[in-house]
Amino acid sequence: MSKVQDILEQVKKRNPGESEFHQAVEEVLKSIEPVLEKHPEFIENGILERIVEPERQIMFRVPWVDDNGNIHVNRGFRVQFNSAIGPYKGGLRFHPSVYLGIIKFLGFEQIFKNSLTGLPIGGGKGGSDFDPKGKSDAEIMRFCQSFMTELYRHIGPDVDVPAGDIGVGAREIGYLFGQYRRLRNAYEAGVLTGKGLTYGGSLVRKEATGFGLIYFVREMLAANNESLKDKTIVISGSGNVATYACQKAQEYGAKVVAMSDSKGYIYDKDGIKLDTIKQIKEVERKRISEYVKYHPEAEYYEGKKVWDVKCDIALPCATQNDIDVDYAQKLIDNGVIAVGEGANMPCTNEALDLFLENNILVAPAKAANAGGVATSALEMAQNSMRLSWTFEEVNKKLDDIMVNIFKMSDKAAKEYGMEGNYIAGANIAGFLKVANAMMAQGT
Ligand code: GLU
Repeated sequence: MSKVQDILEQVKKRNPGESEFHQAVEEVLKSIEPVLEKHPEFIENGILERIVEPERQIMFRVPWVDDNGNIHVNRGFRVQFNSAIGPYKGGLRFHPSVYLGIIKFLGFEQIFKNSLTGLPIGGGKGGSDFDPKGKSDAEIMRFCQSFMTELYRHIGPDVDVPAGDIGVGAREIGYLFGQYRRLRNAYEAGVLTGKGLTYGGSLVRKEATGFGLIYFVREMLAANNESLKDKTIVISGSGNVATYACQKAQEYGAKVVAMSDSKGYIYDKDGIKLDTIKQIKEVERKRISEYVKYHPEAEYYEGKKVWDVKCDIALPCATQNDIDVDYAQKLIDNGVIAVGEGANMPCTNEALDLFLENNILVAPAKAANAGGVATSALEMAQNSMRLSWTFEEVNKKLDDIMVNIFKMSDKAAKEYGMEGNYIAGANIAGFLKVANAMMAQGT
């Protein structure tokens, strides 16, 4: 049995029932096999055994009271996966599907993603099985306060810096930060990122993941003599990542014709009106089906996935395992040329293999969605300096970071004989930096 196979077996045995975590580990380890051949010292020094085991895992009770006085108990998580190159960094996800296996897959991905940004941030992730949908502001506030009442003792600006993810946006970060500040009796702005602009937040943070995705896709297309201009794009999701990917894609002259939420998708053949999406999602906090009330000429498909729609570029910006091998085949049959992963692990490993076999360009999540966490690191830098940069300054830094991530992924793929395979390239480039730091530190 190969070393990688052996480690995968161990991971499955030691972490039973955590299929998303197994999937994420398999995807990374398989693509770094050529690195291990060239650098046996990683195997000799047990780097693989070390990197798949989180440094620390915290699970805790989150009791809270709803508006009717009923008591609820949710489970909170923070997995501090790897701090070889910087304090743990990664978002918090509030969604009923959350369990330890989801947080571990996300934390594992975060190690390599954060490494690719070139900034000094380690990997971590947290969250809760709490469902924010349909809750009042007061309920959200009480939940966040209870969550932070346990979490605060495990985090800090030089220790672990959470941010948002699915179900956690500026509102939640605000309540979490307020509770942290009261408990610590100190203004440690750099303990959380994605803060509001009046209390240490950074311009562009809200837009960063979506903008960064499009900057990466722009670079990938340019390297393959293509561009975004006049391309038809389909986006899954309608949250933060999807919304700002749509905006930036439109700015580059692409036509986004469909977006979705977990209940269904909308199709607007003339192109999605972004102001309406922002109104529905950011102001009203409602379902995407509302779109057809504003634009009766558009169509809404309940219970269907957006991948039925023909497109040149597919941008999965919703959640994990959104595109399986059947949807991948459908996209290929419909003539897709590129896939840009805005969400974390939105394609199954089989779907990714199929795309590569068919020469479809794939912008892999760890590289393509790194703009969010990169801008979080820029927020931390501004907090440390006690000043703030303009929108243009942050946006320029974000763009430069994404260009650099593309170059690193492209170079690593070429170096290891897999030209055009940016999935492997990103994994290799992200892995090398962390593995070398772990070796040097003996951790
Ligand atoms: N949740 C985002 C991600 O998956 C952002 C994390 C952060 O800003 O720390 O990368």
